[in-house]
Amino acid sequence: MRIGHGYDVHRLLEGRKLILGGAHIEHNKGLLGHSYADVLCHAISDALLGAAALGDIGKHFPDTDVKFKDVSSLLLLQHVVELLGSHGYGIENIDATLILQRPKVAKHILAMRENIAKACRLSVDRVSVKATTTEGLGFAGREEGVAAHAVVLIH
Ligand code: MG
Repeated sequence: MRIGHGYDVHRLLEGRKLILGGAHIEHNKGLLGHSYADVLCHAISDALLGAAALGDIGKHFPDTDVKFKDVSSLLLLQHVVELLGSHGYGIENIDATLILQRPKVAKHILAMRENIAKACRLSVDRVSVKATTTEGLGFAGREEGVAAHAVVLIH
């Protein structure tokens, strides 16, 4: 067993789609980034790469590479899972936390878990997604950005 941790932040801007864990969420702002800027998928991808000591998503999917522009973050996650598989690693479980003030995402959590589980070829009960606000504090509280933490166990 090996453990991995991932952390990511993206800026919230008007006129962008808000996609978290592959789920499209109605909101007046979305996340800015080279790919779909799905902060949750990025944190999980980094946690998986970290657990296998295989670097980070910046190394595997550089934002200077046009190939990855507007690529679904679930697809990047799928690539990471395949990379781990090619090194003989499988995933035990994933636990992630989204940090955002608005919008409320509770009704989208199951869809996120299902999307992530599918990309990782896991059953949904091995994927946990939680969400918290920061009670108005910091960049997340000011709705300037969204953060995500993830921990994973691989075997
Ligand atoms: Mg990112």
